[in-house]
Amino acid sequence: MDFRLYFRSRQGELVHLLKQIVALESPTDDKKAVDACVSFVARELKRAGCKVTPYPQPDTGDLTVAEFAPGRLKDADDEILVLTHIDTVWPVGKIAAMPFYVQGHRLYGPGVLDMKAGLVMLLASLRALHGLNAKPQKRITVFVNAAEETGSDASTELIRKLARRASLVLCLEPALPGGALKIERKGRLVVRLDVRGRSAHGGTPEKGVSAIEELVAQIARFKRLRTGETTVNVGLIGGGEKPNLVAESAWAVLDIRFWKAADRDRVLRLLRESVPALRGARIKVSVESSTPPLEKTMASEKLLVRAQEIAGGLGLTLKAGKTGGGSDASIAAGLGIPTLDGLGPDGDGLHAEHEHLLIPSLVERTALLTELLKEL
Ligand SMILES: [Zn+2]
Repeated sequence: MDFRLYFRSRQGELVHLLKQIVALESPTDDKKAVDACVSFVARELKRAGCKVTPYPQPDTGDLTVAEFAPGRLKDADDEILVLTHIDTVWPVGKIAAMPFYVQGHRLYGPGVLDMKAGLVMLLASLRALHGLNAKPQKRITVFVNAAEETGSDASTELIRKLARRASLVLCLEPALPGGALKIERKGRLVVRLDVRGRSAHGGTPEKGVSAIEELVAQIARFKRLRTGETTVNVGLIGGGEKPNLVAESAWAVLDIRFWKAADRDRVLRLLRESVPALRGARIKVSVESSTPPLEKTMASEKLLVRAQEIAGGLGLTLKAGKTGGGSDASIAAGLGIPTLDGLGPDGDGLHAEHEHLLIPSLVERTALLTELLKEL
């Protein structure tokens, strides 16, 4: 079976399925919206021959684990874990201003690339393997995260548990622009800074300690954290109560990215040692989430070479590169499990209004995923 031809003739079905999943808008912080999309994808996974187990969550969307054709592959020793996520960074209603549409080879819409296309690739691959009665070499387990964009303790725990019993992990996050896989990723740390000052009347600010002024002074010092390729982004900030009051509290949330675990430790140490600029101010530093970097290992390089051979058989060239963004692949790789990330389609505009994928690449990557699931 030439899966490139097979999926080329089903390009319309892939695009249609993607349109349905994109229409079910699923911002991480809207449980009801995410769960509606989860139900749809769970139903499709069952149709593709999977046994689906939901993991209900109180605040975020429900997590889903699916086992492909469990009866047929029960004697296979090894297991492939496929990582996907269903949540996006786009609020409900965004689709009105950022519609799903095709222009030439490009397909636009909220979450098309990150990573609803990954779900489409997966569903189409499993459906093909199921329909053709194929018998892959390994058991296949799928994880559909519902809180990837923010990270959640429950999903991290579940990924660790699933990854520990897998012999390799495939992550369907989008490729690097140009189509390369992501073999190295930066780690990510989300840190919250809480500053306390002392309230006073706005007419006599000298009687108080402004938490806002302290926070601004701290932010100005972040230059010292940004060494090498370590980045610090102040993504959220807040504080104060009224214009005529000296702010008693202020806060900021930082997103820090680094290549090596040692860089993370250095930044965290410097933040924890922060000395207030204003007398009487206090600073509290807390880690909201932490994702390890994806570092290249011998095992992951071996897996890459094998994937490149399989891609070669389809007439595709598979390159590998590195990226700043974090993903669930890093959690699995952090346990030492060989991991390939960026198996999703080529495109551009992650978390941006021009988010789009290249349709020929969606077809190629679906064919590649099907071969990888069958042959690895
Ligand atoms: Zn993603």
